[in-house]
Amino acid sequence: MDDRSGVAVVGSINADLAAFGSPLPRPGETVIGSDFSLVLGGKGANQAIAAVRAGAPTYMIGAVGEDMFRDLTLGALADEGVDVSAVRIMDGSTGIAHIRVDARSAQNDIMIIPNANHRLSPDDVEVSLMEFRDRVSVVLVQLEIPLTVVQRVAEVCQACDMGLVLDPAPAQAIPSAVWRGVSVVKPNELEAEVLTGIPITDRSSAEQAARWFFDQGVAIAIITLGARGAFLIGHDGVAEYPAFAAMPVDTTAAGDAFSGALGASLARGTSLPEALRRGLAAGALAVSVRGASPSLPTAEAVDAFLAAQR
Ligand code: ADP
Repeated sequence: MDDRSGVAVVGSINADLAAFGSPLPRPGETVIGSDFSLVLGGKGANQAIAAVRAGAPTYMIGAVGEDMFRDLTLGALADEGVDVSAVRIMDGSTGIAHIRVDARSAQNDIMIIPNANHRLSPDDVEVSLMEFRDRVSVVLVQLEIPLTVVQRVAEVCQACDMGLVLDPAPAQAIPSAVWRGVSVVKPNELEAEVLTGIPITDRSSAEQAARWFFDQGVAIAIITLGARGAFLIGHDGVAEYPAFAAMPVDTTAAGDAFSGALGASLARGTSLPEALRRGLAAGALAVSVRGASPSLPTAEAVDAFLAAQR
């Protein structure tokens, strides 16, 4: 029997360049800032780190450029134990997130330049997925890569019996052919509202929005509701999962922590309710620590957190 407990992540890889200062410059103005950081980012890379820390053998499928950020991004993934053999190296530049953070209010603005991420090709991704099919049973995908790639991922997952977890962020219209290849769609409330047109204000609107995804053909829709937990709809009906109590200091990457823990658990053969519990715990742990990748918890941290709840 093949061991298919692995997770493949098809998604973006960025260098996050963040400048901190206060106040932020107005248009045309130059100011002196107080701090700068340069770290690995991108929703795909973050979910790969979340999955590998959650204990899954993790395979990254994506693209970086032939530039100074190639080694920074691939090195950071490899240092975590993510397999980067299927990351394509393209002529040109690695994806960049240019971030400004107001050091006093913590408000930020971000400009993403996709570069290599937008040159990822459906054929290359299909080749990589076929290569991993004996080791991987769950694929995580987000929307920071071309929709043509997302569509091919959905087709390959359906044909090869791999579960597909779609994080529809940044929210945008999705071709109808994608939906029937999706095992789990996992928007947050704002993404769910953009995609369904239903503002989520209470349980009944959450159920209505979740049902919209279900009606598109996905097997399971999970809307994450921040401190209010998550709402799920599937063939067995609907369920509400309250969040675990947390002391939030920075909510960045809560959703990525949730997806990584959920994906890794499902790939190991954990039941859906238990995989969701681990996702909720990972989200609660992620909001308790500052930063994106530093806040993604390990499987041991999730075990300890859950043990302390009993
Ligand atoms: P995103 O980060 O994608 O916006 P959410 O904010 O919905 O996603 O958070 C994802 C999950 O993280 C939630 O479903 C919940 O389990 C957990 N989480 C988020 N915020 C909190 C919080 N303040 N307290 C406890 N858990 C939280």
